[in-house]
Amino acid sequence: MARKRFIAGNWKLNLSLAEGTALVQGLAKACAADPRSAAAEFAVFPTALAVKTIADAAKGSAIGVGAQNLHWEEKGAFTGEISASFIKDTGATYVLIGHSERRQYFGETDQTVNKRLKAALGVGLVPILCVGETLPERDAGRLQDVLRTQLTGATAGLTAQQLATLVIAYEPVWAIGTGRTATTAQAQEAHAFIRSVVRQAYGALADGIRIQYGGSVKADNAKELLGQPDVDGALVGGASLKLADFAAICAAAYA
Ligand code: PEP
Repeated sequence: MARKRFIAGNWKLNLSLAEGTALVQGLAKACAADPRSAAAEFAVFPTALAVKTIADAAKGSAIGVGAQNLHWEEKGAFTGEISASFIKDTGATYVLIGHSERRQYFGETDQTVNKRLKAALGVGLVPILCVGETLPERDAGRLQDVLRTQLTGATAGLTAQQLATLVIAYEPVWAIGTGRTATTAQAQEAHAFIRSVVRQAYGALADGIRIQYGGSVKADNAKELLGQPDVDGALVGGASLKLADFAAICAAAYA
């Protein structure tokens, strides 16, 4: 089944409003200049306070915008949190859920990931569910165990229709921000396994689910990673912060 490649840039806690605006406008221009770019999908994920500004700047272009997290409650006494419908209101269409930095530093669990996913899907946001193992887990031969647990926990109770919207990002924790990319064989093996877990629960739907690879993707390794049969895109951190680098990764998805 043909799956449209999807390149996403996670800006984390980086880029001012002006820097983000310039970057998204530059990217939009680069895509508009090459009709082949219509074959792929692109999005950036600014800090929460910049989402609306960047969504406004990207309006009418081929670049989508998303938030890096959300809270599952709609409203109430939850100081510091943002809800799915608030994100939707800004013009954003995507949201990252369960990024390893949220799991590592902010106590995210598979159960809270599940609640966030349901909240995102409930308002029609497209969630990118992040999963991946740490190095000790990989070294202990627990890769499949960890991925299966994260996937089943995160997607518990989702209908087939909800699952069909989901994008999954395989992000080995040891490859994030380290400059150490998974080999193409490691990426393909994990992606094929993730698809098999989805297939066990949701059948043929698994063939339409896009699975991005994330972890030190750069302009010089993107093409090779994207060439793997089960790698349908990339979630890019550091290399999404510079227009030339990110535009080159985006181009690897269609050129
Ligand atoms: C990420 O934060 O999702 C990521 C993959 O970061 P980097 O590309 O910098 O490794």
